[in-house]
Amino acid sequence: MTAQIIDGKAIAQKVRQEVQQEVLALSSQGIVPGLAVILVGDDPASQVYVRNKTRAGQEAGIAVFDHHLPAQTSQAELVALIRQLSGDPRVHGVLLQLPIPANLPVGEILDELDPRKDVDGLLEANVGRLWLGRPRFVPCTPLGVMRLLRESETKLVGARAVVIGRSILVGRPMAGLLLGADATVTICHSRSADLGDRVAEADIVIAALGKPEAIAGHFIKPGATVIDVGINRLADGRLVGDVAFAEAKLRARAITPVPGGVGPMTIAMLLHNTVRAAKLQHGLISV
Ligand code: NAP
Repeated sequence: MTAQIIDGKAIAQKVRQEVQQEVLALSSQGIVPGLAVILVGDDPASQVYVRNKTRAGQEAGIAVFDHHLPAQTSQAELVALIRQLSGDPRVHGVLLQLPIPANLPVGEILDELDPRKDVDGLLEANVGRLWLGRPRFVPCTPLGVMRLLRESETKLVGARAVVIGRSILVGRPMAGLLLGADATVTICHSRSADLGDRVAEADIVIAALGKPEAIAGHFIKPGATVIDVGINRLADGRLVGDVAFAEAKLRARAITPVPGGVGPMTIAMLLHNTVRAAKLQHGLISV
């Protein structure tokens, strides 16, 4: 058996086209979805991410407001900007590109943001809502994974899912979403015993541990769906995921490649969340 390769690039393109249609429909009612992107400092990887988000937003017809602040920005200055954006009716979503310089307390700063503009789903109000079964904004990467599961016709109800990783941005919200979709969820982390056994019994494997090819193919249950969130650059320059893809694809029913799997979905879901924020703030949906 060789697995269906889940084409994240094509699915992300489909999501972006859906977003574009929704932006057009909103624009005809005089609503232009707006996204503010804040970058603090000159981290080269963050600069690339911000550029890609800005370009993707503009392509979808979203008004993007870029705020590039110097690395020496004080907490008070950043808080003042976030308060200003929270009150700006042209801005429906605010994204603070992480990481920010270590001297700035990210939690305290994000608390200043209007939770209805938290398109990254990081505020306590939005994390809490996910776990209460009433999600409003959910972090973009796990939201993208849910779309990949749907597009690959993976059965979720009653399925055994293992999430490897418990970060705030990926593992935890991923587990919350799968639970909300009636899967039976196990969360593994660096202190988990018997990781291989947990993977071997899973119908759905979500690998988000950030360790190159750490999940060996022979652990995968035949017929499982494998979603590889990991992005790891090897010394020889190659980009690989957290799953040993070549072996795993011989056992899985469906699997994402790296690159071209989860990666393209993250930006697409940010655009999706921005449109959702615009609808929410204009009373077109209630969540
Ligand atoms: P992170 O904050 O470093 O979290 C990694 C998680 O994996 C932690 O919970 C850690 O456990 C666990 N872990 C580490 N080593 C482990 C091991 N040997 N066995 C089991 N669990 C282990 O990383 P992240 O932000 O969640 O990202 C995870 C990966 O996804 C990274 O490769 C990142 O580059 C990638 N990523 C991709 C996208 C995308 O758009 N495709 C977006 C975000 C992240 P502890 O909690 O015990 O430390």
